[in-house]
Amino acid sequence: MIGPMSKLFAFYQGNILVSGVNQEIPDSSVCKSIAGAVPIALDPDVAVALSEPTELSGYEFIPLREYFASSGAESADRAGRAYHLLNWERGTRFCGRCGAPTKDKEDERAKVCTSCGAIVYPRISPAVITLITRGKSILLAHNAHFKAGMFSLIAGFVEPGETLEKTVAREIFEEVGIEVDHIRYQGSQPWPFPDSLMLGFRAEYRSGNIKPDGIEIVEAGWFTRDTLPNLPLKGSLSRLIIEEWLAGKQ
Ligand SMILES: [Zn+2]
Repeated sequence: MIGPMSKLFAFYQGNILVSGVNQEIPDSSVCKSIAGAVPIALDPDVAVALSEPTELSGYEFIPLREYFASSGAESADRAGRAYHLLNWERGTRFCGRCGAPTKDKEDERAKVCTSCGAIVYPRISPAVITLITRGKSILLAHNAHFKAGMFSLIAGFVEPGETLEKTVAREIFEEVGIEVDHIRYQGSQPWPFPDSLMLGFRAEYRSGNIKPDGIEIVEAGWFTRDTLPNLPLKGSLSRLIIEEWLAGKQ
């Protein structure tokens, strides 16, 4: 499977190895110099999680999120997939049901337990993000984990038994205390931190006063085009949805 087009995705603590000149992913031939690189099941690429930041002449590590912002969607998705699958490989070496070692399933991307036969597929955790409009304003919130001054959309994970629309309404009510209407799907983005799929929505304000939950959301408010705070990095679905609103698109 590993051929001339194969790439090496090398990670060190959320950073990815790229060439210093134009931030390109190295070819897999570089992996001769890196111990522990493993093929990604059913994929031409190889990936490795390093415990030390290996020094390779002409290459450097940059935060994976920054790579997403600069590389374009196709390269970002390929690197994200490598990171997602590498983490999955590392987390499924043993069966969660009986504890025996697993091995690669030959005909699809999955692990199979060598003892009880349980099958484990890559886990994908859906999460929603929503741009809430109220007239000419949008609601943006500062999460306790964000950098100072950065505001983004309300986000949260889908719970078992929930439709995406119910997740949107519940997360907004829990985090900022308002109710919304007209929930509409906008688009999606793989987000491998560690295994999410972000699903973007828009919704319209219906009722209530903003009341941050004080745990996840420490500050939230209505912002117009002229009063926007610092926004999430380019390359994120949140940023894209905000920019589409700025451009006047639906
Ligand atoms: Zn088992």
